[in-house]
Amino acid sequence: MAGIRVEKVSKRFGKVEALKGVDLEVRDQEFLVLLGPSGCGKTTLLRIVAGLEAPTSGEVYIGERRVTHLPPRLRGIAMVFQNYAIFPHLTVYENVAFGLRMKRRPEEEIRRKVGEVAALLHIEELLDRYPAQLSGGQRQRVAVARALAVEPEVLLMDEPLSNLDALLRLEMRAELKRLLKETRTTTLYVTHDQVEAMSLADRIAVMRQGEIVQLGTPTEIYHAPADTFVGGFIGNPPMNFLRAGALGGRVVLEGFAVPSPVEGEVLLGVRPEDLRVSKEQAEGAFRARVLVVEPLGPHLQLTLEREGETFRALADPDFSVAFGEEVWVRPNPGRVRLFHPKTGKALA
Ligand code: ATP
Repeated sequence: MAGIRVEKVSKRFGKVEALKGVDLEVRDQEFLVLLGPSGCGKTTLLRIVAGLEAPTSGEVYIGERRVTHLPPRLRGIAMVFQNYAIFPHLTVYENVAFGLRMKRRPEEEIRRKVGEVAALLHIEELLDRYPAQLSGGQRQRVAVARALAVEPEVLLMDEPLSNLDALLRLEMRAELKRLLKETRTTTLYVTHDQVEAMSLADRIAVMRQGEIVQLGTPTEIYHAPADTFVGGFIGNPPMNFLRAGALGGRVVLEGFAVPSPVEGEVLLGVRPEDLRVSKEQAEGAFRARVLVVEPLGPHLQLTLEREGETFRALADPDFSVAFGEEVWVRPNPGRVRLFHPKTGKALA
């Protein structure tokens, strides 16, 4: 079994500093997701671990071995990338069997293993076809099947579900999670989809502009974002940030108050589901006006306004409220987080 360790890895492409001294450890058997907006360096970091790209400086270890200068095939990894290169001259069956043939596994085992991963990825019907006869989503599934067939210790994946339609994507997400847990595969997985990250990851590394800004479990990242970037990037709708003033060790918004470690201006971060909205005056609440009401099924999404700032709250689906009405909003005090108004960093 093997983990992955990245030490002070930097990468320059001419003037672009794609990675700025990244340190990261993926534990043995862990599912770690690299999450961040387009261009933050996720793919570059994954390609450096794979050996498809050399770092400008820094080291990469897989297990106890330093692999910084080894070619991909000597690193003991399997990978699935966005462009899912599969061999055009081989059938789907032979594509999936490829790694096992390289390892000279017996025919019997190859047939069983190919059958297993083909069932998992719903490509049993396609085994006799050639890649040119497949859709993009089908090719992507073949690429995932080929990587899984060899039961690698370390699996690197870059948006492997991006070409699938929404329903299949959901189903495969759950299947992939089950399978990789079962096989105890150490996985480094790139996505810009925060729901996918939350669903799959043991831990998430949130990246921004070539750096890891927070590393933690999905729950930690969700409930205790390190800064306003993470709070705003994760969650749909994202965390709200309300300007507030701290005085005498407290932040007060009308009837609502929480302790503050600093004085002066702060940002009060609170997620839409941690706001309770009612029509009657409530203790620990502040007033707001309803701007938009959106019935979304499991809840009613409200866009509210307070002193010129808009924010969102999720209410009960049968809560009856109309545009322009005044409501009382009570944040769950245990879920409120304060941030520095300029740096955006969480205040302890
Ligand atoms: P996406 O989600 O869009 O794939 P990403 O987070 O994976 O984005 P990277 O592909 O790692 O981002 O790119 C990081 C930065 O490095 C970007 O600014 C990108 O333009 C730049 N970059 C990546 N590869 C190259 C290259 N071969 N030559 C020049 N610049 C590059």
